[in-house]
Amino acid sequence: MIPLPESSAGFADATWETLAPFYRELELAPLDAATLEAWLARWSRLDELVTEAASLAMIAYTIDTADEAKKAAHLRFSTEVLPTLEEAEVALAKRFVAVGTERADLQTALKRFRTAIEIFREANVPLVSEGEGLAAQYQQITGGMSADWCGERVPLPRLAPFLKREDRTVREAAWRAANLPYVAARAELSALFDRMVALRQTIARNAGFADFQEYIFAAKCRFDYTPADCTKLQDAIAEHVVPACLRSLEQRRQRLGLDRLRPWDLAIDPWRATSPVPYQNVGELQETAARIFSAVDPELGGQFRTMITERLLDLESRSGKAPGGYCDTLHARGRPFVFMNAAGVAEDVTTLLHEAGHCFHAFASHARPFIWQRHPGAESAELASMSMELLAAPHLAKPTGYYSEADAMSTRLEHLEDTLLSLAHIASVDAFQGWIYTNPAGGDGVARDQQWLALRDRFEPGIDWSGLEPERIARWYRQLHIFLYPFYYIEYGIAQIGALQVWRNARRDPRQAVAAYRRFLALGATRPLPDLYREAGVDLSFDAQMIGELVAMVEAEMTELREALTTTA
Ligand SMILES: [Zn+2]
Repeated sequence: MIPLPESSAGFADATWETLAPFYRELELAPLDAATLEAWLARWSRLDELVTEAASLAMIAYTIDTADEAKKAAHLRFSTEVLPTLEEAEVALAKRFVAVGTERADLQTALKRFRTAIEIFREANVPLVSEGEGLAAQYQQITGGMSADWCGERVPLPRLAPFLKREDRTVREAAWRAANLPYVAARAELSALFDRMVALRQTIARNAGFADFQEYIFAAKCRFDYTPADCTKLQDAIAEHVVPACLRSLEQRRQRLGLDRLRPWDLAIDPWRATSPVPYQNVGELQETAARIFSAVDPELGGQFRTMITERLLDLESRSGKAPGGYCDTLHARGRPFVFMNAAGVAEDVTTLLHEAGHCFHAFASHARPFIWQRHPGAESAELASMSMELLAAPHLAKPTGYYSEADAMSTRLEHLEDTLLSLAHIASVDAFQGWIYTNPAGGDGVARDQQWLALRDRFEPGIDWSGLEPERIARWYRQLHIFLYPFYYIEYGIAQIGALQVWRNARRDPRQAVAAYRRFLALGATRPLPDLYREAGVDLSFDAQMIGELVAMVEAEMTELREALTTTA
């Protein structure tokens, strides 16, 4: 067989022409039960090298979106190599499925391959590639956005600290400045999204589905829940979480001494006159995180230190960086990489704790021999990350963590408030996406905006948006998942319900809860979703009663924290 490069660097300049012979060889190689494992190992290693090269190109581009060469390399992988690769993968999957295996730890991979084969259509290959091009346009439009701030052009994430200022006029100005580029880009983004919707519906129909929602449930291998379950979860959130949000916002309003809450009153910490500054520089952000993870579990702390040493973190906000944050896995070397836009606020800490949960998942699941055994669906991936936010919470105070005792308490209070508000937001985003792809009006820009407003009325009460309709609409244009990763959102809700159960376990017995969490991480993708959750010590639940119980626990903790803060204040 053609020798594989020793590292993914050997594929950095790869085009499909240079990669095709490697896949062709696997397609033609003799295959039976006796040769299966060696053949799988070769295929897996090839995929590791190719996907790592693609990841490195994507990372380089998102760090520096203005660099034309990096952009070209990322586009070469995302629009040429990976869509064509999918076709080659399906051809190999067919051979694997035909031979089959009894290995228990490959059954979920087999099931996913069968689905991929069923929904694959050659006619969709150029459409998927076209979709990647549209996605890159969204990243370029939003990555290039900046705000006028005190006579200077600054990237939008840099406004975050001003949203927390005690001076309400500063908060309002920062909030308006951060929203303005999205309000201004509405027509451009709406037209781009029109093309995305049409393309996605065509892909779905080509594959024999009624609409893109049906298609995506198959494509995302959501074997264990249905659109009806998602609606059930939305309803449960409306029943239990939304009233809790209202109670929490009312506490906030009273504490801030305002007659009504405006959208720029949500980021400020009502318990601190000045928001705690969690770190002075990125080095301190990283080092403190490493101490916190060591307190949760020494081995996890060690893994995070490895990431610092090997420079697998790009954390601070700089001009030209794409927005948001992510963790990507470099499969060939068995290492995760974290990208984010830290601006010196408490949310950066939450984001880093979250992304680190994904990293620990990548470290643990890398022990699985084949690449397809490592990455479960987002429901499990986000259980790993959201649980880490909560497991790390008891260690936020100095000397281990970032904050004074009182600041740690107010930060935890904010985190819990945010957990409630996020669940409501998640429900609205999921309901919105379901509506877009199952409704003829989903292709109409004005109807979409109106539907968004109606959903926000249901899931986001308690905030006075009068006179701010364009900004309220702009909120969904800012939600990059809707553009880049359609239907990737309810997973956060499912996982949050799981993570709150992990936290409930940790309050009883932290050691045991962390041990179960790590067993779950190590399973990677080798079990069905409900089994993975069970290993973590939790239920996969869409159930109103369960959600009601968890919300009650969160609210009880919030009450305790408020009381403690009142006595220390
Ligand atoms: Zn995540």
